[in-house]
Amino acid sequence: MDKTISVLGSTGSIGTQSIEVAKKHGIKVKALAANSNVKLLAVQTKELKPSVICIYDKTKEEELRSLIKDNSVTILTGMDGLCEIAALKDVDILVNAVVGMVGLKPTISAIEAGVDIALANKETLVTGGKLVINSAAGKGVNIYPIDSEHSAIFQCLQGNKGNKIKKIILTASGGPFFGKTKAELCNVTVEEALNHPNWSMGNKITIDSATLMNKGLEFIEAMWLFDLLPEQIEIVVHRESIIHSAVEYQDNSVIAQMGVPDMKIPIQYSLLYPKRIECPTKSLSLTDIGTLHFAKPDLKTFDCLDACIKAITAGGRMPAVVNGANEAAVASFLNGEIGFLKIGELVKSALENIENKSVESLDDVLEADKLARSFVEERIKGWE
Ligand code: NDP
Ligand code: MG
Repeated sequence: MDKTISVLGSTGSIGTQSIEVAKKHGIKVKALAANSNVKLLAVQTKELKPSVICIYDKTKEEELRSLIKDNSVTILTGMDGLCEIAALKDVDILVNAVVGMVGLKPTISAIEAGVDIALANKETLVTGGKLVINSAAGKGVNIYPIDSEHSAIFQCLQGNKGNKIKKIILTASGGPFFGKTKAELCNVTVEEALNHPNWSMGNKITIDSATLMNKGLEFIEAMWLFDLLPEQIEIVVHRESIIHSAVEYQDNSVIAQMGVPDMKIPIQYSLLYPKRIECPTKSLSLTDIGTLHFAKPDLKTFDCLDACIKAITAGGRMPAVVNGANEAAVASFLNGEIGFLKIGELVKSALENIENKSVESLDDVLEADKLARSFVEERIKGWE
């Protein structure tokens, strides 16, 4: 296939699946980037022969060079390297599959260079939604969602010919702790929180799914991608993850997208849009599944989801605040420094204690992120 992509976050869950889809369809990979996993990045470099790669962690550069000394590839490092790759002009689509708001600057670089983006990195839109959507529209850059719910909505909007959306139904698996009370979640271990019922994903998003922060981030992501108001989004817990989301039109007709829970389907759609050809996944059998279940989300137990909805309703820099607080809190939970419920508590109190301001520039977003992280670090220090 005469198509070329770059992949930021190539060693992660979405990155490796994007490469699998690219290989299946003969899509060329021009550039790769990772944080610190030099071993896998070296294997990918030898196999795919990109012309440029980036390792964000500068201390790993020498090790990477020694692993691929026979390859003629340009090696970049740090944020400058990520942004340089994002802005490569002879690439059809940049796959942004890094985790965290570190993905925002490269997204902006790609937009400035006029490169279309297949976006998995939801933190980009949560923190910098206004800047990203406005500049993408100004430059005529397409953003193809990889997140399964947003891909589903995007698919349900095809052929719509300008009819207005009444609302969207954003489905949620409910994560490993669906139906639990706060009292039951007090002593949750890292291992239990990492055990997602339906999806195999990177650690950060798996914890976000357990706290329902992920659905909160997706609520904000959907508002920016599809120009929606908060009241136009209904979150529905759907344990089987077969309906990936749906759109209700003004005539009350609801169009849903279904499929097995496998990220290669939305990844492939983002890379090959609008083509639908064979995908390396299983076919859906509704009769094997038998029954689909639906429930309302529990905003009382899952503080993070409630905080995200309040943050985007407040607007300004609050979405960046809740995101930054969550990134810091999740890292501490994964390091064994704080308990599971503390994540929600920290996100909620960052929202309640940090003053709101409007976002006019990237610096405003970065400042909000920094404030939220320091807020969380200080709180945790106070508990020690
Ligand atoms: P993983 O943790 O599996 O992978 C993250 C990737 O990002 C790795 O390649 C990692 O490199 C790289 N990375 C992290 N920080 C940097 C950095 N500073 N510079 C360069 N690369 C970096 O995460 P996922 O693939 O699960 O998730 C990626 C994004 O996609 C997240 O935003 C997530 O919310 C979103 N998403 C994921 C889904 C999934 O099914 N996994 C579904 C929908 C959305 P290294 O390996 O070296 O650490
Ligand atoms: Mg999702």
